[in-house]
Amino acid sequence: MDALTDAGLDGETVAANEAAATDLERIHPAGHVRRILEASPAAGLNHLDPDTVLSPGSVRAARLAAGAALDAVRSVARGERKRAFCAVRPPGHHAEPDRAMGFCLFSNLAIAACAAQGLGLARVAVIDFDVHHGNGTQAAFEADDSLFLGSIHQSPLYPGTGEASETGVGNIVNAPVAPHTDPRAWRSAFEGRLMAGLDAFRPDLVLISAGFDAHRRDPLAHQSLEAEDFAWATRAVLTVARRHAKGRVVSSLEGGYDLEGLGLSAVAHVQALAEE
Ligand SMILES: [Zn+2]
Repeated sequence: MDALTDAGLDGETVAANEAAATDLERIHPAGHVRRILEASPAAGLNHLDPDTVLSPGSVRAARLAAGAALDAVRSVARGERKRAFCAVRPPGHHAEPDRAMGFCLFSNLAIAACAAQGLGLARVAVIDFDVHHGNGTQAAFEADDSLFLGSIHQSPLYPGTGEASETGVGNIVNAPVAPHTDPRAWRSAFEGRLMAGLDAFRPDLVLISAGFDAHRRDPLAHQSLEAEDFAWATRAVLTVARRHAKGRVVSSLEGGYDLEGLGLSAVAHVQALAEE
């Protein structure tokens, strides 16, 4: 937030609303939603798994994170704006329909994608450049050919899924890259696999799972991207979104665990997102 403010990118900030249970149930079974909503401890911590730990404020934060994507998508669907960036935590792309995991409680962008479809944007794509595979989004999308996921991620790495052979009903494109991949090779995979697939899908709306943990400073993975690589990837998405989706793009923060790398990358991403 400080990085965005310092870069003068906080001019049109909108506070998020908490996602309603009925919205969370667009992806997650009602019983699972109820269990998560009741899982925040009154004090101390509650471990759902070794990575996914709730404090007293976690459920409210997760409802706001999902709610931010919902608010943004609804605003874009109504034609009030064309782009938005959701500066949220916790992330969402590891949360499967019936399982919270990998710091993620709710599948923020899958929920927003279903809401967008309900507002007339029939074909919704998610581009996921977080360094980890978007297994939760894939689990939500893999049987529905009106939805598309393109994920580029390091392999081997948590959560261990995302092989190129995982293609859903022809609507999933996975581009695993090896540790220490040259940024030029990363760009080539992003363009040749993800952007080619996105263009062929002809989306009405593009969502971005914007994780910045492929930055060279990040402690959780071994990629070598710089902030300008994320700006480049953002412009590549915009090119396809202008062609098919009237330029409609909603981006939501996923990972990114080095604060300096995260700030620099988020600023480069939002600046690119704001270009006409
Ligand atoms: Zn990640």
